[in-house]
Amino acid sequence: MTDTTTAPTGLPEKIRHYIDGEFVDSLDGEEFDVINPVTNDPYIRAASGKKADVDRAVASAKRAFAEGPWPTMLPRERARVLGRIADIVETREQTLAEMESFDSGLPITQALGQARRAAENFRFFADLIVAQIDEAYKVPGRQANYVNRKPIGVAGLITPWNTPFMLESWKLAPAIATGNTVVLKPAEFTPLSASLWPGIFEEAGLPQGVFNMVNGFGEEGFAGDSLVKHPEVPLISFTGESSTGQLIFANAAPWLKGLSMELGGKSPAVVFADADLDAAINATVFGVFSLNGERCTAGSRILVEESVYDEFVERYAAQAKRVKVGLPSDPTTEVAALVHPEHYEKVMSYIEIGKQEARLVAGGGRAEGFETGNFVQPTVFADVMPDARIFQEEIFGPVVAITPFKSDAEALELANNTRYGLAAYIWTSDLKRAHNFSQAVEAGMVWLNSNNVRDLRTPFGGVKASGLGHEGGYRSIDFYTEAQAVHINLGEVHNPVFGKQ
Ligand code: NAD
Repeated sequence: MTDTTTAPTGLPEKIRHYIDGEFVDSLDGEEFDVINPVTNDPYIRAASGKKADVDRAVASAKRAFAEGPWPTMLPRERARVLGRIADIVETREQTLAEMESFDSGLPITQALGQARRAAENFRFFADLIVAQIDEAYKVPGRQANYVNRKPIGVAGLITPWNTPFMLESWKLAPAIATGNTVVLKPAEFTPLSASLWPGIFEEAGLPQGVFNMVNGFGEEGFAGDSLVKHPEVPLISFTGESSTGQLIFANAAPWLKGLSMELGGKSPAVVFADADLDAAINATVFGVFSLNGERCTAGSRILVEESVYDEFVERYAAQAKRVKVGLPSDPTTEVAALVHPEHYEKVMSYIEIGKQEARLVAGGGRAEGFETGNFVQPTVFADVMPDARIFQEEIFGPVVAITPFKSDAEALELANNTRYGLAAYIWTSDLKRAHNFSQAVEAGMVWLNSNNVRDLRTPFGGVKASGLGHEGGYRSIDFYTEAQAVHINLGEVHNPVFGKQ
């Protein structure tokens, strides 16, 4: 099959920055090509931001913070704007999904789900700031104390290319809900859906300068790096690779910036012999192949108890072979095109490594029928040893490693045997084992007999190389606000007297 994809209607003529209420080009006029993952042909030009563009965007955000009204508006008033943003995202969900799917290669049905989740994020944080309870303490007759939750200033938001619109909403909603102003740096591979934010925000009545966006690359001297090193951006919320997170951590250190890091993963799905195997197979197939495998919480290492291992591998491989690879725009597609040829090459190179390290039981190459674009077969390796690279390293594509274990202790050792610690999935009918395993597994989030569903009130984040800090629910409010303690004297003033002769 060759390309039958067509650009969605309403494509902008170019991707520009958005600063102080206006779409603008880079000051030096530089641009780069954005690629359609189905053909790998460039389909649009995007402005490439540098330090000077970031300086302009930060100045705009700073002005909007200092002059208001956004930071001092009542939470209920800000919540109304957020509610309108959610409504607009919902009414445009089809367009948003088409753009996202076209730009990133995500299957259209899954892109639609992500657009809906983006609307939910705004609705959720609108509700949360209105319901916010502030802490207060008192020592009867002596003093009372309360905590002021204050917006911090200009938040720098740096996002990756997987589910870009939803991940941007995950940072934008709490950052602005709490009264900050922002500069967003979207991922360079997928800037299209982000170009819709300005129209959505303007229509919802977000004051000028509260939202600013600089497109382009992350490396030194470019937009991402310049945002991290800008002295007037006191906090950075970053989602991306662990190695990029380490670099940002070091680059932000001279200013002691507030950092939230949502990083890579190599999450285990542990299947015990007493599990409901049908449910476990369905969920673990979905867990690694949905979103093209480009999911931070993908259960990309499946650990299976020895007594059901052969059956599991056989049934899993058979189901993986039935996963439908197709064009992103086809509503029956389950796995579509990886985001970019560079990423395709990376995933394919891991498949070749896997063929040396383990037993290939499904897939293993370019998806049949697709001569162009970044289409990879859902690929399953069995008998993967813990020292294999495909066991240890994040592939971020439709590739899974299956490993047997003999005992609970070995399962735990294998589960914890990588540098990552984002998620873990546990399949067992033994409740005691499920809870004990959850306690011991090194993962920020655990799903028991469940696929990846998440209540927005719960903390989201990883341990070890998977992240720093948590967002989600009140954790996001904590991250995007300063907790200022105010102490009030209720009794006599007992000032110690110093230096009085
Ligand atoms: P990446 O680290 O290459 O890039 C992420 C963003 O950082 C991009 O916008 C990029 O331009 C920018 N960037 C790059 N270098 C920078 C620098 N020196 N300073 C500032 N910004 C810089 O990641 P990616 O390839 O876009 O995304 C995939 C990765 O993201 C995977 O590792 C995945 O697991 C991770 N991810 C994690 C979560 C999570 O919540 N834990 C969610 C989604 C994706």
